Amino acid sequence: MFESIRNRLALLFVLLVTIPLVVIGVMSDLLIEKYTTINGAASLTGSVQDKDAKISSFLRGVVAEIDVLAGDTMKGLVTAIETGSGKGVTIWRMNLENEFVNFMRAKRVYDRISYRGNDGREIVRVDFNGKEAVVVPEDNFQNDADATYFKETMKLNKGEVYVSPLEPNREHGKVRASFKPVIHYAQPVFNGSGDRAGVIMIDVSGEGFLKEIKGSNERIILVNKDGYFLSHPNEDIEWGFYIEDRKEERLQKYYPKYSSTILNGRSGYVDTGSGWPSTWSYWFYSPNDELVAYQPIFPNPTDKKDYWVIIKSENKKELMGTLIKMRVVMVGLTVAIYAIAIPIIFFFGLKITNPISKLQKAMDMFDREEDREKATEIVKDNLALKNELGLLSSSFVTMSERLHNTQERLDIELQRLRHLVQFGSLVGDEVSEKECYAILIKFLTGHFHLDRILAVSFNNSENLTEIIASYENKEGILPFCAPSPYDLKVIQDARLCRAVRSGKSFVVNDVEGDYRCPYQEVVQDKGSYACLPVTTGGAILGWVHLVNMEKGYFSPERQFTIESYINTIAPAVNSMRLLNAHRKLSIRDPLTGLYNRRFLEETMERQMALAERYKQSMSLIMLDIDHFKKFNDTHGHSFGDRVLKLVADIIVKTVRNSDTVARYGGEEFVVLLPNTDIEGAFQVAEKLRIAVEHCTIATDGTAAEGVTISLGVSCYPTVAVTIKELIDSADDALYRSKSMGRNRTTKYEKSAKILSDAEKKKGV
Ligand code: GH3
Ligand code: MG
Ligand code: MG
Repeated sequence: MFESIRNRLALLFVLLVTIPLVVIGVMSDLLIEKYTTINGAASLTGSVQDKDAKISSFLRGVVAEIDVLAGDTMKGLVTAIETGSGKGVTIWRMNLENEFVNFMRAKRVYDRISYRGNDGREIVRVDFNGKEAVVVPEDNFQNDADATYFKETMKLNKGEVYVSPLEPNREHGKVRASFKPVIHYAQPVFNGSGDRAGVIMIDVSGEGFLKEIKGSNERIILVNKDGYFLSHPNEDIEWGFYIEDRKEERLQKYYPKYSSTILNGRSGYVDTGSGWPSTWSYWFYSPNDELVAYQPIFPNPTDKKDYWVIIKSENKKELMGTLIKMRVVMVGLTVAIYAIAIPIIFFFGLKITNPISKLQKAMDMFDREEDREKATEIVKDNLALKNELGLLSSSFVTMSERLHNTQERLDIELQRLRHLVQFGSLVGDEVSEKECYAILIKFLTGHFHLDRILAVSFNNSENLTEIIASYENKEGILPFCAPSPYDLKVIQDARLCRAVRSGKSFVVNDVEGDYRCPYQEVVQDKGSYACLPVTTGGAILGWVHLVNMEKGYFSPERQFTIESYINTIAPAVNSMRLLNAHRKLSIRDPLTGLYNRRFLEETMERQMALAERYKQSMSLIMLDIDHFKKFNDTHGHSFGDRVLKLVADIIVKTVRNSDTVARYGGEEFVVLLPNTDIEGAFQVAEKLRIAVEHCTIATDGTAAEGVTISLGVSCYPTVAVTIKELIDSADDALYRSKSMGRNRTTKYEKSAKILSDAEKKKGV
């Protein structure tokens, strides 16, 4: 899925957006959490400390005041009681009553101030009736000798204060229906000699300081050190340690995990929230996830065994309430960023990947050798891009064009090579130079637009120059290889031709403007022409003259191609010429120029077959120079050679072209006469004999020698039916002529006896 660049980019962008958002989210979560906790804890702690300060200062005030009340007036009363002075007691008691009343008027939170003697009976008592301080008459005095506070206080030393727990008000040992929580503060009173004289006690109404807690809407709780609620927003769970069916209502029930920490007598806070401390989990916070600050209060500053704990809690969800708005804003921002970023990512992603996929598609097409133009069309839009993709696409287009051009050029070259090979094989099969040039002209006119071609063969050794083939493109008529109508000077003297002289091509691409060869005799008034030599191994075999009636036709490329054809033909022409020369050598007798005996035998076989087939006769004349030996002996060998040549020339001139003349042996000749009977042959033989007889040949001196020949004639099929018979019978007839006196012709006659070699010799 993430193979493609587009998807990878999309993933990258999503990660780039998401990771910072998550990091920022988590960090802000941590910060919010931390801030909420620290700030909440600080505020809660401050709040409970504040309450503690108020309540503690109030309670310390009570301790200080009890000292004041146990001052001079109290001592005066104690002394009067001990000395037994009735009047003094009354006066000091009245004084104490006044002091208590005044005191209570100033501090209305006191429910009762009383002084009782060692026996527990009240001596002075002032109650607060809800409106004012009232001195209680002696009839209503109570005896608290059995009360816990009295017993405990009596055990105390000087200056020590007893503080009771905060407890419900009781009347005669019973809890009253309407709760009026009270704390008893009590201090022992000593006489002048330092003995205990009684107890002074202040009942402090709990309502006064509990108002500090209950008055507000805050979640503030006051518990005693055992976890029972002294003050709770829900009053139905207060006072569990006095009310039977509320025994379970303790801090332990509500904060089972944290109650021991809260109640350990030190201040601090606990976080009851659980789970990942993230505002993301805000929505999942339970109502029990609270921040709880606690602060112990010591009602007795001097004896810290007993204490209460003031607890203030705040639901975490509520604490985070305002901060969480930030979260909402952040979530909104996140969504907004995604909403903006994702289309942008896709837009830019497509901008990058679209050109890439186009390029890829085009390359695939190119690779599969599909339509090249279609492939370049696909990337056309990419070319407008100014970035790397644009450059890449334009490189691709250039590359594909170049490749295409190269391919085209290669195709052309391949075609050219094919034609050349085809041409070469055609030329190779040819035996005549003329045909070779005819094929050349056929190919050149097939592949080039040429108005005139002259192919000239030049044979330096034989000093022979001729127009061997020509072509003229006139009004659509193509007289291909017609005999040349031109009789040119360069044909008389090939050295006039520039191409022959230099051995290099001579090209004139504009006959009107460029320098032209003065020997270009077939004049053209416009266009271009080229003279290309046919050379091989440094030898000039001829040249080809090409004309086109347009200017500049012979571009270097065309010239190159035409030269390739000419260069192909050159070795073929050369070897053809060599072969002809060789053949000539192998079938001719070098002295007389006549065919040799081998060629004669081949010809005889061919002619015999033809004669047989067409039911024609064929004759053979065999002739021998008479007394030839004497020419050699008298005038030397070269004279003998001259005689041989003379006789040969006479024979050639005398017989028909269709007859074959061959030198058969030293001074023996054979003439083969196709389609001739024995009579005809005899006449030819006689003609020969007479022609030779009439000839003389000058010797070195002034004299001249006459030459005669003897001849024998035979014929197929009348006399002989095989070649051997034909030769033997003619030979036989020849020797008959010899034996009959020479310089004569004898026809072979079947009836005549064939001479033995001995007889022949004898004849000679
Ligand atoms: P006959 O009238 O019986 O034919 O007598 P002849 O002398 O012509 O016959 P013979 O066969 O005795 O002599 C032929 C001679 O021709 C022998 C040989 O030296 C000579 N000869 C053969 N070939 C050549 C040649 O090429 N040149 C020359 N100069 N002499 C040749
Ligand atoms: Mg002879
Ligand atoms: Mg002879």
